[in-house]
Amino acid sequence: MTQERPKLTPPDGETKVLLHSCCAPCSGEVMEAMTASGIDYTIFFYNPNIHPKKEYLLRKDENIRFAEQHNVPFVDADYDADNWFSRAKGMEWEPERGIRCTMCFDMRFERTALYAHENGFPVITSSLGISRWKNMTQINDCGHRAAGPYDGVQYWDFNWRKGGGASRMIEISKREEFYMQEYCGCIYSLRDTNDFRLSRGREKIKIGTMYYGRDEPQE
Ligand code: SF4
Repeated sequence: MTQERPKLTPPDGETKVLLHSCCAPCSGEVMEAMTASGIDYTIFFYNPNIHPKKEYLLRKDENIRFAEQHNVPFVDADYDADNWFSRAKGMEWEPERGIRCTMCFDMRFERTALYAHENGFPVITSSLGISRWKNMTQINDCGHRAAGPYDGVQYWDFNWRKGGGASRMIEISKREEFYMQEYCGCIYSLRDTNDFRLSRGREKIKIGTMYYGRDEPQE
């Protein structure tokens, strides 16, 4: 049985939050949890790491669809992929959860914190940490580092996985039949996931084909 959600309170009792969202499946539970707690939030979609553009648009459009369904404002930030590639130079062969990922989180959170500073959001947070594939400490360190330079902005390092959040994330994804991405996002994670699959005799990823509630993910 699904656990009840706890009542959430952002840091210092703030009620206005800018939510950096990586995709609909990860942000679905975060969004519903904040809505249930009466938090006034806006989605900030800044993910220039996602490659190719077809995959980027699939993830973004799914997130927009869900935001519209909830009447949540959605800020569609730049797809400055050239900038991402130049910051990733020399890190092409780094493993997931390594320094390339730190750079990737830093870059996305820096833009989120800047937008929060310029647009009066006292708190930023992210859906990135809800995935069990991610290192929560690494993400939280990046979030705090990004908010650090701004006096009026703080990073909310709430653990969205706990209290049943991780299982509600899957339930919501199935209920909404969200598009199911099969790799983290960048060209290097796509390469590495495909290499892993081929080494197991499986087919390469076919972008745009898998949906929660209709297809079963493979480990
Ligand atoms: S593996 Fe994921 S977090 Fe790491 S650099 Fe690629 S897209 Fe970013």
